[in-house]
Amino acid sequence: MDAKILVALLAIVFLKFFWVVPIWTGGDLKNKISWHFWTRGSADKNNVLVEQLKQYGVIKTKKVAEVMETIDRGLFVPDGNSAYIDSPMPIGYNATISAPHMHGTCLELLKEHLQPGMHALDVGSGTGYLTACFAMMVGLQGRAVGVEHIPELVASSIENVKRSAASSLLNGGSLSLHVADGRQGWPEQAPYDAIHVGAAAEKIPQPLLDQLKPGGRMVIPVGSFFQDLQVVDKKLDGSISIRSETSVRYVPLTSRAAQLQGF
Ligand code: SAH
Repeated sequence: MDAKILVALLAIVFLKFFWVVPIWTGGDLKNKISWHFWTRGSADKNNVLVEQLKQYGVIKTKKVAEVMETIDRGLFVPDGNSAYIDSPMPIGYNATISAPHMHGTCLELLKEHLQPGMHALDVGSGTGYLTACFAMMVGLQGRAVGVEHIPELVASSIENVKRSAASSLLNGGSLSLHVADGRQGWPEQAPYDAIHVGAAAEKIPQPLLDQLKPGGRMVIPVGSFFQDLQVVDKKLDGSISIRSETSVRYVPLTSRAAQLQGF
């Protein structure tokens, strides 16, 4: 065999079993999860991912675990197995699907505002993964709206949702995905109990603050190079309190032209 091919094959085997797996789950993962993981069905792999996020303390509640088990991340990520690695993945158009631990963190932060019947807005909905989770949580009596400014991503997110456990909510009209500039929010279904922004804003857009219901919560990455995940609570008297949850790295909330530069 050609030496180059042999080296490439060895490198693949090495990365697969000794590098990719440990960075995703931590040190002694190989004892916890057998390598048969790689040959299991996608729902199984998704459950393993959720289990790991529980062990790391990212997922803290049954409610969030259940929704992340129900919505199979693999249906939202173009490339098979990479869906179940705790890392953001490119989805084209200079965008990424956020890492599973960020999805889990945001669902935990928003869960009280995603009760059945509530309204949720997902700005920069990308693959539609979180919009689908929101829709499962607010149910048929609630509303989950995704807004994304790349038409091709909206079209593929609709296909992703159709394959997922949230498809009946799309058909029933409680889940919708729209092409629009998310900095303007989506006034038609406002006010929202929960607003999630999946791209980093230099400053919190006023229309999003206006569309947040008194008693509601927004989770939004703010900053340019250095970013904080900010938790914005609107009190019942309309006043706003803001705290930083953690440092993050998201793609910018920007214009379509700026995002597509160089793509
Ligand atoms: N939560 C999504 C994140 C996708 S990345 C997921 O996990 O799949 C952020 C998304 O925000 C990208 O899809 C990008 O196209 C979108 N975006 C950036 N600026 C936007 C804007 N002004 N309006 C709407 N969407 C925007």
